Amino acid sequence: MPNPDTETKTAFRLPPVAEKCVVRTKSGPDRKGHFGYFGGKFVPEILMPAITELEAEYRKARKDRSFKEELREILRSYVGRPTSLYEARRLGERLGGIRVFLKREDLTHTGAHKINNTIGQVLLAKRMGKTRIIAETGAGQHGVATATAAALMDLECEIYMGRKDTVRQSMNVFRMELAGAKVIPVDSGTRTLKDAINEAIRDWVTNVHNTHYVIGSVVGPHPYPVMVRDFQSVIGKEARSQLKKITGGLPDLIIACVGGGSNAMGIFYPFVRDQGVGMVGVEAAGEGVDTDHHSATLSVGRPGVLHGTMSYLLQDRWGQIKGAHSVAPGLDYPGVGPEHSALKESGRVKYVAVDDEQALAGFKLLCETEGIIPALESAHAVAYLAEAAEILPKDSAVLVNLSGRGDKDVETVAEIFRERGGK
Ligand SMILES: *Cc1c(COP(=O)(O)O)cnc(C)c1O
Repeated sequence: MPNPDTETKTAFRLPPVAEKCVVRTKSGPDRKGHFGYFGGKFVPEILMPAITELEAEYRKARKDRSFKEELREILRSYVGRPTSLYEARRLGERLGGIRVFLKREDLTHTGAHKINNTIGQVLLAKRMGKTRIIAETGAGQHGVATATAAALMDLECEIYMGRKDTVRQSMNVFRMELAGAKVIPVDSGTRTLKDAINEAIRDWVTNVHNTHYVIGSVVGPHPYPVMVRDFQSVIGKEARSQLKKITGGLPDLIIACVGGGSNAMGIFYPFVRDQGVGMVGVEAAGEGVDTDHHSATLSVGRPGVLHGTMSYLLQDRWGQIKGAHSVAPGLDYPGVGPEHSALKESGRVKYVAVDDEQALAGFKLLCETEGIIPALESAHAVAYLAEAAEILPKDSAVLVNLSGRGDKDVETVAEIFRERGGK
């Protein structure tokens, strides 16, 4: 038997054949949902019919004009799209004279990019004749966005949430209930996100005839990573034409935070073929990547299969999934979207990690210079921006995805600052 102790010390290397695949898959997965070595649909046989149906229906819907028009109209009138692209001049000056453009997903209804995806999926579910929506949620943000979309489109909605999370995030439980959803606390396992996902899958297997399962990021089995990316790509498409109007060109660099990776995929994807545009995905280093308390999946994880897809994961030396940590609740996931794994391997996107301290500094920086309170997730992107600014040429145009607003985090931050005597 190989010795796992020495095995973990060797850096992971893709088989040479897989490396070739990765470089070729810039524009999306093959027909089985593989992004080169990553992706796929690793699901129990009993779920295959559901996945296959979803794939076929989604393929039809994405080409259907009436579906696209209905979606566009809801995004405009209900979500508040297009969101503004705002040039943060004071921040740019503070950072040595670069031009910073913030894509303001924080200004959407419910205050984060997650709504772009849940509206898309619930509309698709309705088109498929489903009457019931289920989802899982960790911190509650995806649960709230799903409950909101289900209320809007009058579908029954049940949200699985680890018992521990329902206590920690009781306000979000109440928000979901206000929108008419039923929150089901999960008491198995660690009573957190990963167990909630297991329960949601169990539900889906039983009720697939009338139920659609809304996954909240570019993770899970094919076609979810593609579908969620497409629904979130509205961010990058808008930003591209907005920036062209302001500067006449493309950005030099795009920065986005990465939990599961949906806001990052959404802003990166429309620029992937533009070789002159640099891209950086910012993961959460939590208390440090050399501790056990971080979520830096791409930076220090290894490939494996979780929740139906092959991708980088945080796993221990026995291949068991490790707990993730970040001061930002939305980055706290031990996996990441398979397309990000492929983009990492091909070198098209660079992935870095920013720790809790740096994120808090980024949070303060944006509040002070622009009067914008970012979500702690988005503050990771701001923190990396400050780091990158030191080596960027003056007048570089940097596009930063401000994935959400920070009202939800104000109390957490206040408590941290109070403990430190106001700093
Ligand atoms: C959930 C969340 C994230 C992380 O999810 P991704 O799928 O990586 O985008 C980032 N920012 C905010 C505001 C969130 O709510």
